[in-house]
Amino acid sequence: MQQILQRASSTARTSRTLIIQQVQRLLSTQLEFTKDRYNIDRGKFGTLDDTHYGYFEDLLGKDRVIRDPEECEAYNVDWVKNVKGMSKCILKPKTTHEVSAILKFCNTHNLAVCPQGGNTGLVGGSVPVFDEIVLSTTLMNQIISVDDISGAVVCQSGCILETLDSHLAKYDLMVPLDLGAKASCNIGGNVSTNAGGLRLLRYGNLHGSVLGLEAVKADGDVVDCLSTLRKDNTGYHLKHMFIGSEGTLGVVTKVALQCPTRPKATNVAFLGTNSFQNVLKTFRKSKHSLSEVLSSFELIDAQSLNVVTKHFGKQCPISQHPFYILIETHGSNATHDEEKLHSFLAETMSDGVVLDGTVSSDPSKIADIWQLRETITAALQHDGYVFKYDFSIPIKTFYSIVEIMRERLGESAVTVCGYGHIGDSNLHLNITLKEYSEEVHGKIEPFVYQYTSQMRGSVSAEHGIGFRKSKYLQYSKSASAIGLMKSLKQMMDPKGILNPYKVLP
Ligand SMILES: Cc1cc2nc3c(=O)[nH]c(=O)nc-3n(C[C@H](O)[C@H](O)[C@H](O)COP(=O)(O)OP(=O)(O)OC[C@H]3O[C@@H](n4cnc5c(N)ncnc54)[C@H](O)[C@@H]3O)c2cc1C
Repeated sequence: MQQILQRASSTARTSRTLIIQQVQRLLSTQLEFTKDRYNIDRGKFGTLDDTHYGYFEDLLGKDRVIRDPEECEAYNVDWVKNVKGMSKCILKPKTTHEVSAILKFCNTHNLAVCPQGGNTGLVGGSVPVFDEIVLSTTLMNQIISVDDISGAVVCQSGCILETLDSHLAKYDLMVPLDLGAKASCNIGGNVSTNAGGLRLLRYGNLHGSVLGLEAVKADGDVVDCLSTLRKDNTGYHLKHMFIGSEGTLGVVTKVALQCPTRPKATNVAFLGTNSFQNVLKTFRKSKHSLSEVLSSFELIDAQSLNVVTKHFGKQCPISQHPFYILIETHGSNATHDEEKLHSFLAETMSDGVVLDGTVSSDPSKIADIWQLRETITAALQHDGYVFKYDFSIPIKTFYSIVEIMRERLGESAVTVCGYGHIGDSNLHLNITLKEYSEEVHGKIEPFVYQYTSQMRGSVSAEHGIGFRKSKYLQYSKSASAIGLMKSLKQMMDPKGILNPYKVLP
């Protein structure tokens, strides 16, 4: 790997993608199977035979039933190369009817299924643990309707977030969600993880933006809750059960989203400051001064920015500081918003809270600044093995866990950094090592979860529980709540065929 990375620095920028792919491929072949690393026993599920394959091939056609081991590999390994399954069968339905037929058949034959969207999930929920069939929604990518008056948009669950957003631009609408994985993640995956992202501060979470959805239960039954109404208080709000259930209660096939009007004016400020206290002061002031136009407030610590400059050769647009803040505004009057942002910057700088900063309304500069934030996750991969944490922590103590872990791990970690959605009190603590070490793992977990729980935080703010965090669910959910979750699972999927080994402890 070292050789590949060395070559990366001497090769032109254009070949970077190729090199990242080479590194990713190398890391995935070196990866142990999840079942071995975590010592998991296989559930009592059936094993695929020729009769099963025959049924799937009749239903979908041979080209939508993937059996080639090399092709299956990409569906078996997660984005961060932390977990690796052994599925020998990937199914690619195009319609709800096909999903329903697949699940009905799998339920009857007791075959386990792992639903997968863009496979960008960060908690090991999207890939199998053993030989579960991967039900990939990537071909379910039709945009069904756009109502440019109400903003209600209906699409199939396999639509890629960025593709949907580009389509909506024609109607002056936008998807109320944005994240670094937008070029690959699917709307169904976003809904199933209740993804938060970069603008939740302004546009709220998916429990608010999803107007309705359609999902298929484990037994193949299609649950139609595809309302496009903003107000609908008829009975239980069943859509919420599927939002954030990470493929354990049903496969989401269609989604109706409330999409806001696309902003006419976007501005971005990139600021530097010397203490976390000053980050908080800046956040407080931004809510007062920028109020209705504030759309994002992101934190990047110096260590996070360093990995981006080190591995991707990006330049920091301002002088170096321990903490950086990215502020974005979305509004309807460019001059008005720019003036607001400039006077906000002037005030925070004259107070000595912000030490340096730059403001831009130029789309290419805005994209460059956003890249500094959005590529942190990918850059960290180049350090080696990454431990990723996604905590909600009360804002005043937000950053303390990063400092504690830095001290606790000392030289054994390559990078200990913190970044994230400060506007939502959501911290991404990341710890990288040259390679996986059980000893260091023991120093990190369960300590970080216990600490978060003591702070009355959440062990997963937005990424979900998946495979990697199921045993830590108890730090954020009471025994009675976990009991109710288990009852729901039993009712909706009595044989437990949907995404086994995930979410529930
Ligand atoms: C660079 C990068 C940046 C990221 N930034 C953010 C961020 O800011 N905020 C955030 O919340 N997340 C973020 N993520 C995590 C990830 O992108 C999100 O969790 C995303 O919502 C996953 O979508 P996906 O289509 O890739 O789902 P997958 O990874 O394929 O699946 C995720 C989970 O959902 C289930 N699932 C997928 N599709 C369906 C379906 N149709 N029906 C039922 N279950 C399904 C899977 O079984 C799995 O449990 C980031 C990831 C990366 C790599």
